[in-house]
Amino acid sequence: MAAKVSGGCLCGEIRFETTSEPALQVLCHCTDCQTVSGASAYSAYVVPTNALTILQGNPTSYEVRADSGRTNRRRFCPNCGSRVWAELDEMGFMSVNGLALDDRKHFQPAANLRLDSAPSWCQIDTTLETMAG
Ligand SMILES: [Zn+2]
Ligand SMILES: [Zn+2]
Repeated sequence: MAAKVSGGCLCGEIRFETTSEPALQVLCHCTDCQTVSGASAYSAYVVPTNALTILQGNPTSYEVRADSGRTNRRRFCPNCGSRVWAELDEMGFMSVNGLALDDRKHFQPAANLRLDSAPSWCQIDTTLETMAG
């Protein structure tokens, strides 16, 4: 089942679609994800790099080296600032913002990542798998 899933930023300038089932759906509690999203965790809808197509717009990028040592190229809309996805080149994956999908029901987290940096007030869904990341 490789149903197309579409998404975009808040202002509509960036539009994209994915053509693969997600390899992973996780809530990432790392501090980088918290800083850019203002939430206790980022909703990561992870697909293979070649499964994401830009339909419209040209997202700006900001590249950081994550704690893991891997390069993380975070992409966001230059107009409204919405975070749309991150490119994890070494892993061959894109970490799409699961809540930037047009139909948010597509994002169904299966695991918690980096719970070591989750805020103390964060309600953790302990029914999900825990990944150290
Ligand atoms: Zn936008
Ligand atoms: Zn993260």
